[in-house]
Amino acid sequence: MNDRNYVSNAVCVKCGAVHEAKPDLTTCEKCGGILDIRYDYDRIRSDTDPAKIQARSDRSMWRYREFLPVRGDSLEDPANGQGSKTALLPKLRVGWSPFYRADRLAREIGLETLYIKDDGINPTASLKDRASAMAVVKASEAGATTIACSSTGNAASSLAGNAAAAGFETYIFVPERAPKGKVAQLMMFGAHVISVQGTYEDTFRLSAEAIDQYGWYNRNAAINPYLMEGKKTVSFEIAEQLNWKMTDYVAVSVGDGCTIAGVWKGFKDLFAAGFIDRLPRLISVQAQGCCPLNRAIAEGTDWRPMEENTIADSIAVGVPRNPDKALNAIRESNGVVVNVSDEEILAAMRLLGRTSGVFAEPAGAAATAGVKKAVGTGLIPQDASVVTIVTGSGLKDVANAMKAAGDPLLLPPDLKRLEQALSAQGLV
Ligand SMILES: *Cc1c(COP(=O)(O)O)cnc(C)c1O
Ligand SMILES: [Zn+2]
Repeated sequence: MNDRNYVSNAVCVKCGAVHEAKPDLTTCEKCGGILDIRYDYDRIRSDTDPAKIQARSDRSMWRYREFLPVRGDSLEDPANGQGSKTALLPKLRVGWSPFYRADRLAREIGLETLYIKDDGINPTASLKDRASAMAVVKASEAGATTIACSSTGNAASSLAGNAAAAGFETYIFVPERAPKGKVAQLMMFGAHVISVQGTYEDTFRLSAEAIDQYGWYNRNAAINPYLMEGKKTVSFEIAEQLNWKMTDYVAVSVGDGCTIAGVWKGFKDLFAAGFIDRLPRLISVQAQGCCPLNRAIAEGTDWRPMEENTIADSIAVGVPRNPDKALNAIRESNGVVVNVSDEEILAAMRLLGRTSGVFAEPAGAAATAGVKKAVGTGLIPQDASVVTIVTGSGLKDVANAMKAAGDPLLLPPDLKRLEQALSAQGLV
């Protein structure tokens, strides 16, 4: 692969202004809108096809490099031994996460065909690794040495991990309520951590001011258009793992909206390049206590801020940072919206674990809670085929996992007492 990539330009989603796709690109110079990276799909189509990609030994998100906005020399194939000649090469293995046909879960939900895409199985245990790996490569291309972001937790821990592996310094702003497991990851990865006494909104604003002040590379996903390009690789994998035959629906949990917008972009890329012949409908799942985007869709109005009232910290976003792209994605896909209560999220955590051996954090299980509810209320038909994305691992937030699962039997080391306790529960 040469230095050229397939990016044609970056277009503002608000005013349509066209920008050159530089590595340190942020928002639209004219109106401040969020930019969208565009590709030359004809050239991608003439240079590659599904069979060529399927033959690759690279089992990571970089397997789809024709669809990614990185310089060719950033991404020599690491598997063929000629990779490590540049500093830009991604260091952690991000992506190519497991994809399961989940028949037992499907049966309990009342669906015929259900798949789980488990993105908790990433180096720092969430889908955010896809965006952070991209941020590190783009920061290298921009010649930066320090990267910063604000996050409810997972964007931060994934940035800290991916940046540590590539030798970058990081400044990370988290709201004080971020779960301890996520903050522990940050500290372990050597980040400079600022725990902000305020909401996510306050945290975001402080990080933006500091980034301006110190000139750090900005990994805030709604500002940096490349991060969505990393997130979209989850859709490439889903399509390939389905042998390029798409399901009817794909369910995603939604906070800022960058993930669902990335998921949609991925499918649209594949459709534009002729890799898949139909697009799935999106199921946008938010928490009942914080659902500004779903409310806007349901009411057919503009979005308005909401309180951040849910245990699912990763999607507790009252002022979404990427509303335009997310709302476009849901509407364009003819998508459906579902809001789930904390109880429904905790139940979905247990259900995923018990039927499938998949351990999700609350936001990671929210999509599955949404699928269950959508089938139960008849919003989607029982004979639909669905992919539910698990966006983060349950080990991130053990306190809420214990809340969902309850306590174990506590007994002295005495067989008699064990027998009593087991028969009291009707087990043996
Ligand atoms: C960030 C995140 C989401 C939502 O992504 P947005 O881009 O904020 O919409 C969902 N689940 C988990 C586990 C996350 O970390
Ligand atoms: Zn603009």
